[in-house]
Amino acid sequence: MWYNNILETIGNTPLVKLNKIVQDIPATVLAKIETTNPGNSIKDRMAIKMIQDAEADGRLKPGGTIIEGTSGNTGMGLAIAAVIKGYKCIFTTTDKQSKEKVDALRAFGAEVIVCPTNVEPEDPRSYYSVSSRLEKEVKNAWKPNQYDNLSNTEAHYEQTGPEIWEQTEGKITHLLVGVGTGGTISGTGRYLKEKNPAIKVWGIDTYGSVFKKYKETGIFDKNEIYPYITEGIGEDFLPQNVDFSVIDHFEKVTDKDAALMTREIARKEGIFVGNSAGAAIAGLMQLKDKLGPDDVLVVIFHDHGSRYMGKMFNDDWLRERGFLKDDKLTAKSILSQ
Ligand code: PMP
Repeated sequence: MWYNNILETIGNTPLVKLNKIVQDIPATVLAKIETTNPGNSIKDRMAIKMIQDAEADGRLKPGGTIIEGTSGNTGMGLAIAAVIKGYKCIFTTTDKQSKEKVDALRAFGAEVIVCPTNVEPEDPRSYYSVSSRLEKEVKNAWKPNQYDNLSNTEAHYEQTGPEIWEQTEGKITHLLVGVGTGGTISGTGRYLKEKNPAIKVWGIDTYGSVFKKYKETGIFDKNEIYPYITEGIGEDFLPQNVDFSVIDHFEKVTDKDAALMTREIARKEGIFVGNSAGAAIAGLMQLKDKLGPDDVLVVIFHDHGSRYMGKMFNDDWLRERGFLKDDKLTAKSILSQ
């Protein structure tokens, strides 16, 4: 038995019980580990779905160029699909993203333009503006716009939701998801709530992002917006893929807690995943009083730890940000004493 190409291996990711890291949590905690997708992240699912839907209605034509503002993982999914399907890719990203992510996109032949992080989305230098301008200037171009393209949510409604429902044999009581474009939480959450309306859907947000305040007050508060370090989640605008009616609660997590917990997942569970997984588990710790022994919580681990080697998995990087409290005695430091 073989697959006809790498795109056929997307999805059907493992669901793995967490043990040591959640020993203080009274519920069963299961992680949906999306690193086994070909691009090592959950975003492969929506990337191929956006392309297929655009091909079907003629927005993307043979030999076309895919142009997108992406923080890396969506770009990976699009770039891999483009290799197989014969499209060109130009991505705009921000200088906040890890170098590993940018280099990985270039490995698949994509062109990557790095833009400044700390400018307004409307600023002509922002990665949103640059990709919009390229879309107009490049011939036969298509911009998926992962934030407002509802094929993103649909991918998770069609795949991620049903996989979790089957893997838990309908026993899931809580879904916990880091929210960026909102596609993962909205599609997965909508499917699961249709199966069982009692399921609680919790979103993880960052300090510096607008989601939590908007959910709780209906106010888009610009004062909530400031630079933050956590990657992949939180936004300074409201993407159409965030369906606030599906989300019961947003929990905010600090950059420090997210970074340190990302490392703990590798050390305690042997699961090498990215920064949003750390944010989700740190958020789970804050929410533990809302859980009981009969609860079955599924948390999404969106991407692979290898993309954060220069960041959360680098002691110097953590120390520079004041995230690492005590310098542990390592063999090297003992020898140099
Ligand atoms: N974690 C990581 C690492 C991501 O790249 C993303 C996508 N921005 C998310 C979480 C959030 O997923 P979604 O965009 O579906 O809300």
